[in-house]
Amino acid sequence: MLRYENHCVGCASSLGCSSTCRLRHLPVYYCDDCGDLIEEGHFTSPDGEKDLCLDCLMEENKLVCDNCGKEIDGEAFRDGSDVLCLECLCEFYKKR
Ligand SMILES: [Zn+2]
Ligand SMILES: [Zn+2]
Ligand SMILES: [Zn+2]
Repeated sequence: MLRYENHCVGCASSLGCSSTCRLRHLPVYYCDDCGDLIEEGHFTSPDGEKDLCLDCLMEENKLVCDNCGKEIDGEAFRDGSDVLCLECLCEFYKKR
């Protein structure tokens, strides 16, 4: 779920803090399954109802590698917005 939280730590008004301080309305995503704070990026469940972390998304449904299109059995890796299987991740790193 998306929540707006006050993360303002009382920054000085000379630094531009006011009632419109960006940090007072920081959008933060929480996983709807495990309740964890999702630090980077989030996934939406297939029905579009829930915001999920990668771990819970993997438990809810099998992930498919964005590169080779195979189901990911083991660990999935994230490369930007792509989800990769271990083999494809290794291939990518070899090329870089
Ligand atoms: Zn502030
Ligand atoms: Zn989760
Ligand atoms: Zn792959």
